[in-house]
Amino acid sequence: MPVLNDRADSSMPGGEDNSVMIGSADFGLPGGEKIRGLLHKLSEGYHPSEQEWRFLIAGEYDRNLLYTKADEMRRKQYGTDIYIRGLIEISSYCKNDCLYCGIRRSNSHAQRYRLSKEDILSCCEQGYGLGFRTFVLQGGEDAYYTTKQVAGIVQSIKERYPDCAVTLSLGERERTDYEVWYKAGADRYLLRHETASKEHYQKLHPPGITYEHRMQCLRDLKQIGYQTGCGFMVGSPFQGTEELIADMKFLQEFRPHMVGIGPFIPHYDTPFREYAQGSLTQTLTMIALTRLVLPKTLIPATTALGTIHPQGRELGLQAGANVVMPNLSPPAVRGQYSLYDNKRCTGDEAAEGLEELKQCVAAIGYQIVVDKGDSRMKTDV
Ligand code: SF4
Repeated sequence: MPVLNDRADSSMPGGEDNSVMIGSADFGLPGGEKIRGLLHKLSEGYHPSEQEWRFLIAGEYDRNLLYTKADEMRRKQYGTDIYIRGLIEISSYCKNDCLYCGIRRSNSHAQRYRLSKEDILSCCEQGYGLGFRTFVLQGGEDAYYTTKQVAGIVQSIKERYPDCAVTLSLGERERTDYEVWYKAGADRYLLRHETASKEHYQKLHPPGITYEHRMQCLRDLKQIGYQTGCGFMVGSPFQGTEELIADMKFLQEFRPHMVGIGPFIPHYDTPFREYAQGSLTQTLTMIALTRLVLPKTLIPATTALGTIHPQGRELGLQAGANVVMPNLSPPAVRGQYSLYDNKRCTGDEAAEGLEELKQCVAAIGYQIVVDKGDSRMKTDV
C-alpha cells in the first residue's frame, strides 16, 4: 500500500491530511457510513445537494473509500483495460492568450513549430507499429491549418489506418469546421471547459475569449456526433470548492464521453507563474468523483498528474482513470510544446517508452490493450 506525501495539499480547498493512500480502506473511521452511503447513491445517478458536494469535494473523510468505489466502478464498466492514445502535438502556435498557458500568444520566449502532414503521418505510422489505435492531434489555435488541410490530414489517417480513431484537440473553431472534420472521419474532439464558473473563466482568460462560446462549441461538437471530451484544471488560480462544485454539476448535466482532469501547474513565462500548483490528492478526488458520476466516461491519467508526482499517473488509474496518452510527437519538438513547467515527455510518457509503461500499469493490476477504446457512453444531445 503506497503512502505518499503530497506537499501541495496545504493549498487545497477544504484543507486535508498529508497522505494519499491507495489500495486499502479504513472502514472504521467516524463518518464511514455517511460517505459510503453517499458514494453509493452517487454511482446510481444521484444529484447531490450543494452541501453534499462540498463534503464530497473537501474530502474530510477516508478518501480510500472514494478511490476504492471509483476503481470498482471502472472495473465494472471497462474491466482492467487501459486504453492508450498517441498524442501528436501538431503546432505550438496559438492566437489565444490564456493566462495559464506556456504557449500563449504573448509568450515571446516560447519556441514555435508546426508539423507538416507528412510529419503527422509518419508519427501515426510509428504509433500504429507500437500498438496505438487512437491518434490525438492537438495544437494551439493556429489558423495556419485551414479547415481543408485538417480535413485532408484526418482523411489520410483514416484511409491508412481504418481501424484507428482520430481525436482532434484544436480549440474553438466554427461549427462548420467541426462538421467538415467529422465528415472527413474524425471520431472524437477534446475541448476542456477549464471551469464551469463563468466568473472564474473570465479570470483565467483575457477579454474576448468567452465562457459562452466555449460552452457553445462543446454543445456543437456533441450535436454533430463527436465523442466529446471536456475537462478542467484542479487548483487553478481563484478556484475554490464552489468552482469545483460547478464543474461536477456541469459534468452531470453535459455527460461528456471523456473528461480530462489535471492539476494546474504554473509556467514561468505566464502571469500565473507565482501561483502554487494544484494538489495531487484533490486531483485524484475529482477523478474518482467523476468516475462515479459518469461510470462509462473515459478519463485519462494526465501527463500533468505524472509531472507533479512520480507515481501520479498510476495513482490516477487507481482512482478511476482508464486512459493514458503517451507522447508520439517527433522527439525533436517535444520540449517545445511547453504548456507548463517541467512537462514530462520522455521515458514512459513517450510512445517509445511503451514497454516501460506496460510494466508500470501491470504492476498495479491493469493492462494496456491494443484497442480503439471507444467510450461506452450513449450519445445523448
Ligand atoms: S490553452 Fe490552448 S487556446 Fe489557450 S493559449 Fe494555450 S494553446 Fe492557446
